[in-house]
Amino acid sequence: MPEKPPHVIAIYPGSFDPITNGHLDLIQRGSRMFDRLIVSVLRNDKKRPLFTVEERTGMLHEVLCIYPNVQIDSFNGLLVDHASAHSATVLLRGIRAISDYEYELQMALMNRRLRPEIETIFMMANEAYSFISSRLVKEVISLGGILRAWCRRRSNSGSRNGFKKEIQLNFRGIRITQCRH
Ligand code: ADP
Repeated sequence: MPEKPPHVIAIYPGSFDPITNGHLDLIQRGSRMFDRLIVSVLRNDKKRPLFTVEERTGMLHEVLCIYPNVQIDSFNGLLVDHASAHSATVLLRGIRAISDYEYELQMALMNRRLRPEIETIFMMANEAYSFISSRLVKEVISLGGILRAWCRRRSNSGSRNGFKKEIQLNFRGIRITQCRH
């Protein structure tokens, strides 16, 4: 059994396409639990992301600069290899509902089989954000809806680029909400 490291480093992996208040809540809580928290964007074009990895890491940098022990990175390949390269011993994931649980359990058990020394830790979503997902945010904004918890303006953009711009503009909403905490 490996000993507890003097500095516990955790990786919080995800698509973050785009980052939401749900992710931010987890990061804020995680930053209080671990000595270092690395928020890492998965490079996976198969998911057909709306934002490029550079755009997503850029948004993460904007919001997370207030947390001194939070770092931003990206990865492809096996998550456990990425964690080992950073000497991380914890993988942080969030659970919103039963629907998350099944997938997360499979991933956690597979990752444990690959590298037993790395532990997956789950945090329950904050009830205020438990219904928020990146997919839903994109869907609602693309249809012209307003998401109070996430953004301020009504979308009037039909094109993919207009829609991306709309999310980026509204992104300031997240930052302001989050900084007030
Ligand atoms: P993935 O594509 O890996 O699902 P996401 O960026 O959507 O990536 O999510 C990364 C992690 O954050 C996952 O563990 C997911 O369950 C968690 N998560 C996403 N949205 C929320 C939320 N609103 N509250 C808590 N956890 C969340």
